[in-house]
Amino acid sequence: MRTPSAPTDCFIALGSNLGDRHANIRAAVDALAKLPGTELLRVSTIIETEPVGPPGQDRYLNGVAHVRTTLSPRELLQHLLRIELERGRDRANSPRWGSRTLDLDLLLFGDHIIDEPGLTVPHPRLRERLFVLEPLAEIAREQRLPTDGRTTGELLESLRRGTLVASVRPTIG
Ligand code: ATP
Ligand code: CA
Ligand code: CA
Repeated sequence: MRTPSAPTDCFIALGSNLGDRHANIRAAVDALAKLPGTELLRVSTIIETEPVGPPGQDRYLNGVAHVRTTLSPRELLQHLLRIELERGRDRANSPRWGSRTLDLDLLLFGDHIIDEPGLTVPHPRLRERLFVLEPLAEIAREQRLPTDGRTTGELLESLRRGTLVASVRPTIG
């Protein structure tokens, strides 16, 4: 018999820039709330962001959901991939970081550090992305990353400073 695991707090990034973006995000949030053994605690403000990746893409809607679940990290990932497919996500015919109806990334799974084929947690590109850190810090500013102990709020401030320095660098000296 499988022993039920203690509920774990997880953060999931939501993204869409294809089709009815609002409907895609709403459907994802509804689907998360209905996952077995899972409680939806909070959803950040949904923000509109400039696309990163191949040129010519439309703007994204991005947000972050906070759930508490007894699912394992693998089970949760499988559900995220299934929910994406149900919203018409077509990975096969899209370039890396190309347009997508729905993208659900597992950002944090409690304080677990996972580095397996097909599953890396905390999400490896979390620190580089304002479109992830802004909504994440909005709902979990004091949450620390198990990898380096920094809070999401600190990571956001660092990234903002880095972005600012990078953007002013060409105009000085
Ligand atoms: P990025 O990972 O840079 O945000 P992406 O979201 O466009 O890029 P996808 O094509 O959606 O990448 O995902 C490719 C694979 O990444 C998935 O099939 C999944 O197995 C794997 N993966 C590894 N770690 C994670 C994670 N933490 N959350 C979601 N998928 C992950
Ligand atoms: Ca992604
Ligand atoms: Ca993804």
